[in-house]
Order: sequence, then C-alpha cells, then structure tokens
Amino acid sequence: MTHANEHILSDGWLLDAASGAAPRAIRVLAACQAELRPEAGARMGAAEAAFGALLETAPVASLRADALASTLAQLDDAQPSAAAPVADRDPVIPAVLKREMALSLSKQWRRRFGGHSEIVLDSLNEPGVKARLLSIPPGKGAPEHGHEGEELTLVLSGSFHDGQERYGRGDACYANADTIHTPRVDGEEACICFAVELGSLKPTNPALAAANRMISIL
Ligand code: ZN
Repeated sequence: MTHANEHILSDGWLLDAASGAAPRAIRVLAACQAELRPEAGARMGAAEAAFGALLETAPVASLRADALASTLAQLDDAQPSAAAPVADRDPVIPAVLKREMALSLSKQWRRRFGGHSEIVLDSLNEPGVKARLLSIPPGKGAPEHGHEGEELTLVLSGSFHDGQERYGRGDACYANADTIHTPRVDGEEACICFAVELGSLKPTNPALAAANRMISIL
C-alpha cells in the first residue's frame, strides 16, 4: 500500500518554499505538487503556518523546527480529505504552472536529441537553477547518471521508474550527489515532468560526458 506522503517534497524543501528561501522554480514546483495532491497541499499549509509562527516569535530560534514537527505530526495521521483540485480546463498542467508558462518566452515543445521534447521555463531560470518541462516517449529515458547538484522532478502525466521506485502523476523524485539512477518511462503513454536542476548532472559513464552536453536528461 502506498503511503499518503510517499514522494512528497521533504519538510526541508517545504519550509524553504514557504519561507521564500528556495529558488522560485522550487516554490512553483512545490505549489504544483500541492495542487495535484491534497496531502502535499496540507503539508505545504503546515509549513507556511510554521513559518508564520516563526515570524511572530522570531527570537525563539528553535521554534522553526518544533512548530513544523508538531503540526506535521498531526497531519501524518490524517487521511486526504478531497480529490486533487483540477487545473482549469487542462488535465495535465497545473494552473500555477500554466500561469508561469505565460511569463516564459519558450512556449513550444522542442524536440531534443535522444527522443524527448522540452520547454525551457526561462522565467524560472536563474544562475545555478534550470527549470523545464520534459515530455518523454514510452520506453525512453536517460542513461545512468549521477548528480553534482540536486534535482527535483515532478510527474505531471504518465510515469517513470528510476530503477528503484515508480513515480506517477503528482509524485516528486529527488536526487542529489549520492544518487545514481536510470529513469525510464514505463507504461503506454508519454511521461510529462516538471524538472528543476540545482547544479548539474554527471554521467557515470565518461563516454556519455560529451553526449550529455547535447542530451538533456532527467
Ligand atoms: Zn537524475
């Protein structure tokens, strides 16, 4: 049985998103997951409440962690109360992301070497942060790779398997310097993801280093 909080952004990411400490791309990704999954929305609300409490009692340095922990402890036992809100008229792209795409210069899918397509979300990009939408056909994926930085990938439709776990709509896959994975789309439909990279990716096979400059990978 899948745990209600499986593949939801960690408390650390949620606090950084709620406080505004995270890059805007991460804040938008967190808002997208909150829109797709009610339990993610509840935890985001708890993080915002905890940060609000911190602001009211700023001298108490330990409150930040304590407030979130106690609020989340209650949420851990709660059942999701409603279906995920449906984005306006589009079954795939969350409303918050559609608003962001309206600000972005790139609006069309661009076919990339390797078979997938992408839309670079330039309005969310900043030094060290790369945000994009990926559309990957069934059976396609990325070569095995590690990460020099961090990577958050939110599935908007379809699903992929990273060699260890499966990620479907609303699930977030986190990878960092300790992660080596081989994401591959499973199922019959293309997988559309919202991916944010902090830092860069590092192919485990040196021969792929040159190809990595041409192939964008999960
Ligand atoms: Zn990766």
